[in-house]
Amino acid sequence: MPRKLFVTTALPYANAPFHIGHMMEYIQADIWVRFQRMRGHEVHFVCADDAHGAPIMIAAEKAGKAPQAFVAEIAAGRKPYLDGFHISFDNWHSTDGPENHALAKDIYLHLRKEGLIAVKSVEQFFDPVKAMFLPDRYIKGECPVCGTPDRYGDSCDVCGSVYAATALKNPHSVLSGATPILKSSEHYFFQLSSQRCLDFLKRWTNEPGRLQPEVLNKISEWFKVDEHGHGGLADWDISRDAPYFGIEIPDAPGKYFYVWLDAPVGYLASLKNYFDKGGAKAKGESRSFDEFMADPAVEQIHFIGKDITYFHTLFWPAMLKFSGRKVPDRVYVHGFITVSGEKMSKSRGTGISPLRYLDIGMNAEWLRYYIAAKLNAHVEDIEFNPDDFVARVNADLVGKYVNIASRAANFINKRFAGELRVAGDAGALAAEARADIAAIADCYEGRESGKALREIMAMADRINTDFDAAQPWLLAKDAARGAELQNVCSRALIGFQRLSVLLAPVLPALARRVARELFGLERDFVWSDAEAAPMRIAPYRHLMQRVDPKQLDALFEAPPEAAAAATPIALPPPGGEAIAATITIDDFAKLDLRIALIVACEKVEGSTKLLKLTLDVGEARTRTVFSGIQSAYAPEQLVGKLTVMVANLAPRKMKFGVSEGMVLAASHADDKQHPGLFVLEPHAGAVPGLRVR
Ligand SMILES: [Zn+2]
Repeated sequence: MPRKLFVTTALPYANAPFHIGHMMEYIQADIWVRFQRMRGHEVHFVCADDAHGAPIMIAAEKAGKAPQAFVAEIAAGRKPYLDGFHISFDNWHSTDGPENHALAKDIYLHLRKEGLIAVKSVEQFFDPVKAMFLPDRYIKGECPVCGTPDRYGDSCDVCGSVYAATALKNPHSVLSGATPILKSSEHYFFQLSSQRCLDFLKRWTNEPGRLQPEVLNKISEWFKVDEHGHGGLADWDISRDAPYFGIEIPDAPGKYFYVWLDAPVGYLASLKNYFDKGGAKAKGESRSFDEFMADPAVEQIHFIGKDITYFHTLFWPAMLKFSGRKVPDRVYVHGFITVSGEKMSKSRGTGISPLRYLDIGMNAEWLRYYIAAKLNAHVEDIEFNPDDFVARVNADLVGKYVNIASRAANFINKRFAGELRVAGDAGALAAEARADIAAIADCYEGRESGKALREIMAMADRINTDFDAAQPWLLAKDAARGAELQNVCSRALIGFQRLSVLLAPVLPALARRVARELFGLERDFVWSDAEAAPMRIAPYRHLMQRVDPKQLDALFEAPPEAAAAATPIALPPPGGEAIAATITIDDFAKLDLRIALIVACEKVEGSTKLLKLTLDVGEARTRTVFSGIQSAYAPEQLVGKLTVMVANLAPRKMKFGVSEGMVLAASHADDKQHPGLFVLEPHAGAVPGLRVR
């Protein structure tokens, strides 16, 4: 039976663009959601902008805009991030939408009917110039504990004290500079401390599988009441006075819901908006929003950061429960992402801009992979380390995974017209992997993506080891061993398809290309494809670039606007050298450039620079070429690949033997400052011996 899943990520506050922390959460949830979809489950994955509250009202005023217009502008900027990082939300909405106004009011009225709303008089700082009550963050003054001036109204970051804003000495309003006055006002409270709420929450939080163990521990601290009667849950102030950008409380003119009341209701509002638009219907869900949410089989799952655990594990389930609605099934809490390393400190701690990451041409799936490799099911912080990022992506994705296809597919296409055939039973091959595939599925289900990727890379290692041990480049030289060659390469490529399926939740765009371009499917992979044995493979096309460490430098550099403001400097010549003197077409024709297959490759004993290449340019013999590319390539990375060689260069006697030509590679003129050597490779379809003109 397919599961019915309603999945959300935390609603981002609509006063700023996304940062790397948002992207981490979306990537975590998206991987889980894509895995569920691949398994055939019905998933509705939604989010929305959290549009209300004093900070947005104040920021909009500063920008000279209506809050609605301010929020709309922020919302319009979301798409490049979400599309750019392949985040597959089914709907994106706003907490200022009509659905949210209606749902928040409905939930409140139910809570009131249940007798869980109380009205109390609260004394608060009021800005007499702006004529508004001030949130703590908009009041500054001297710390009541250490006396440091210019501290915020809730805590002092010098001595670490936490206090009420009314305790500040010489307070002033951040908005007007005026001295705030104490004024009392009626506030509405949700009675979280009531016995009914406590009984329900103790039961709900302790249900098996609902919460992570460390989250449950934290909650039990919140529940705890000491011998003096301190601690425990307090009633929750859910109202703010006008002027406020938010939803007006029914029957309470001038009172608005505190933003944290209507924000989580935004999950339901976004889902309702999506159902009403026909989005769910398009995915085979014929019921209405209300019918869907009344189905006890529907699983409601929230992915959130650890900073908002209190709201999501206490307020939110209690609000839903006592308004007669479905309560969340699971709340998955993650830690924060920090950025570390030397580059980070050079960038003066500005962190990573996700949009800049995309703008400078970095592959979104590198970041998805890196983050997935670091995540587990616990509430642990993870670290983005630039050097680790380069090493891991290049070693795993390019060195282990993509490498399999680039090496094996050429043989199959050149020698066997793309046909995959293994010795013996291809079905048995799939059965061998069944236990591993099931273990990896368990990892994804349990949000242990780091563990899943370690298992997948171990699988890739085994495929590479088997392939190398069979020495296909030697088999290829012996016409009598064609069947062996086909078996070795076919096994590697069936393995490659399996890896691609297992990686698809993390690398959706790459997996889509592999499914369609290499294995000729007219759909994306589904999970059961991991056990399938494909019959054919199309000619290999380049799948993924290595990360160039210089891209990380660019990622941490000041953004281009700031650089442009600096003193203009002359552009350096391209690649570090001026374009050479003009030649004629006849001059060029003297060069005979040919496509060559790298049949074998080895290190040259006694040389730290040279690799010895055995090249097939379609002649009756192979050629030996010595090339100074050892610093950039391991021999096994080149075997089986096509390149371009100068075929009519006079043979040159070297210390290690005669070199019969030259392989083309690109590099910067100043290879000390700009290291990197890149051997040329033709597009798919080229065969050895073709002339380059
Ligand atoms: Zn202090």
